[in-house]
Amino acid sequence: MVESKWPLIPVEEAKAIIRAHVRPLPTVEVRFEAAQGLVLAEDVHAREPMPPFPASAKDGFAVGASDTTEWRRIVGEQFAGYEANIRVEPGTAARVTTGAPIPPGADAVIMVEFSEVRDGYVRFTRRVEPGADIRPPGQDIAGGQRVLAAGTVLGPPEIGLLATVGATTVRVHRRPRVGVMSTGDELVEPDEQPGPGQIRDANRFSLMAAVREAGAEAFDMGLAPDTFEALEAFIREGLERYDAIVTSGGVSMGERDLVKPLLERLGTVHFGRVSVKPGKPVTFATVSGKPFFAMPGFPVSSLVSFEVFVRPALLIMAGWPPDRVERPRVPVVLDHTVRHTAGRTEYQRAVVRFERADGRFHAVTTGFQGSGRLLSMVGANALLELPEGRDTFEAGEVVEALLIGPLEAPSRREAEKRV
Ligand code: AMP
Ligand code: MG
Repeated sequence: MVESKWPLIPVEEAKAIIRAHVRPLPTVEVRFEAAQGLVLAEDVHAREPMPPFPASAKDGFAVGASDTTEWRRIVGEQFAGYEANIRVEPGTAARVTTGAPIPPGADAVIMVEFSEVRDGYVRFTRRVEPGADIRPPGQDIAGGQRVLAAGTVLGPPEIGLLATVGATTVRVHRRPRVGVMSTGDELVEPDEQPGPGQIRDANRFSLMAAVREAGAEAFDMGLAPDTFEALEAFIREGLERYDAIVTSGGVSMGERDLVKPLLERLGTVHFGRVSVKPGKPVTFATVSGKPFFAMPGFPVSSLVSFEVFVRPALLIMAGWPPDRVERPRVPVVLDHTVRHTAGRTEYQRAVVRFERADGRFHAVTTGFQGSGRLLSMVGANALLELPEGRDTFEAGEVVEALLIGPLEAPSRREAEKRV
């Protein structure tokens, strides 16, 4: 029996090794509009309070709350965006719109819905307390307040806050630039017709998409044939250009699986096998100080390996707080028996949904779980993590699931169809 020279290490150990070798990329200053998905490398403070002035929260009338005059004279209008030269005295009121500064003399706003206007006078069907429908200065943001902390991932509300406080350039961690290549003499480009013994390259494209989904920039390094010379040339060029490299294929036990021996020559291989299914030959190396992730060739193996080992690493490089780079892990009830052999940690693709009836998450796997069957990942929003040391799980048992996509709320019929 031919034995691999690489020890089979547990998933958690492999993940720890990767973590010990990746660190956040240097920071850069960018325009805030271009910062979506990036991670702040500095705290951001507001200079001014928000709102900056007492502002009306409604369309209506600015009044004195204690004024008991029935018909009050309308002294003028104060709309949003400027300061009108008017004052609200007892016996008067001023028209205001939402966001308008409250005129001096007024201490409350009465909604237009509670007003009746006649001949330049207004009366109200409601009384209000002082302060009603006035947003005091600093209600939303105090002057000088820290609005965003270093380590925050910038999404829509954060981009809006940067605009609000006028932080138009921000210091962020650089987006990782990741080179992706496939290896294999049998592979042709997707728009080619495969000849005898050939198949189309899937992994380069699924992996580039996964890289982008992880918020990094993906670069197509192309399709490398299974020779040392070609592989070495591809890898050297990639290392010059990118922060990390992701490859697929060429890491198992075949005569033409050259990636591991080549990586040993060019850098340090930190592990060459993991006790995981799919993806046992997944390999991690550093070459010239850069992380190099070699995914197995089977399309599901490469994507699951990316999900488990590469994605968290890319997030760390992008500056994400280390405690946020893992997928959410939830206990799920199996809706059917799940066959599993105890020898390795197995990630089965599944659809997880929340069941109102029992208040728990339930999982249904996506059919045949072959490493080549990319269809088993289509529509999956979870990986069931079936632990080493325990075999088949019965319907009704609870296992851990990594949520890799949004939860859906399928109709009862759809849910029943899947079972
Ligand atoms: P390997 O790890 O190179 O031995 O490949 C394992 C299996 O995955 C073989 O059946 C390959 O043909 C297939 N495979 C390798 N790379 C790709 C790829 N980029 N796209 C689709 N299938 C691939
Ligand atoms: Mg191959």
